[in-house]
Amino acid sequence: MNAGLNYVLKKMLHMQIGCHVSISGSIDKAVDNAVERKCSAFQIFTRNPRGWNAKELTKEDIANFKSKLKESKIDRLATCAHMPYLPNLASPKVDGFEKSVKTLIDEIERCVQLGIPYLVTHLGSHLGTGEEGGIKRLVEGLSRAGKTSKDVMILLENTAGQKNSVGSNFKQLGEIFNKLKPAKKFGICFDTCHAFVSGYDLRSKEKVKETFEEFEKYVGIKNLKILHLNDARGEIGCNLDRHYHLGLGGIGEKGISAVVKFANKEKIPIILETPIDKDRDDFENVRKAKEFA
Ligand code: ZN
Ligand code: MN
Ligand code: MN
Repeated sequence: MNAGLNYVLKKMLHMQIGCHVSISGSIDKAVDNAVERKCSAFQIFTRNPRGWNAKELTKEDIANFKSKLKESKIDRLATCAHMPYLPNLASPKVDGFEKSVKTLIDEIERCVQLGIPYLVTHLGSHLGTGEEGGIKRLVEGLSRAGKTSKDVMILLENTAGQKNSVGSNFKQLGEIFNKLKPAKKFGICFDTCHAFVSGYDLRSKEKVKETFEEFEKYVGIKNLKILHLNDARGEIGCNLDRHYHLGLGGIGEKGISAVVKFANKEKIPIILETPIDKDRDDFENVRKAKEFA
């Protein structure tokens, strides 16, 4: 085998790229959707993300999901689940907070059942009551869930910096992260759209390097377990959480390409949460992501 081809194959082996896929119909359909889209990594909601209640997973659901995943050759360690939208782990309302922690614990259990190693969560909103209290509750809630979490790692996702949200700047994210116990139950999910609209420049190779140096300083690249690869509809620092097609948004081709190369080098699975519209669908964005590698 010539050296060039060998190099290409080697590089491809370390490429885990996919997207968020639907579980519509039954949860094992997620694997079919991932395979169709030529994903080597994927993310799911384990249930309807817009409600509080979830039907329990049946034995059949679990068995089907697991057997399809095994057949698919997608590495189990390149799969993750995302928390539903309603929980707010920084909520100042006692009821809302308790319900949120309970949902997190339930979702961890569902990941255990499905053999999914990572659960991504947002950090929540203090709803105008102040960062200090919000962070205190968040750390308490996460730590309570972390104690129950067996083999599942809870990943904190950096936020877009919307009003009252916590965890958009790396320094604060690192401070929160370092308070969590047991530490080995926690990791980070880095969202490129969120980072960019929070003011971190990702538009060139140089800027990507600088941004991840900053991330390394406060949070640590070794804690980064999943990368959400999304371009941004808005401009740098706009705090708008609107994802866009890879290379066509504020971050652009050069920046997205540098991020993909970084993630592959660090062996971090890449998951797209890009829109589906007349310009592009998931099939095409996944293909683009591989091209950028
Ligand atoms: Zn998210
Ligand atoms: Mn995300
Ligand atoms: Mn987002």
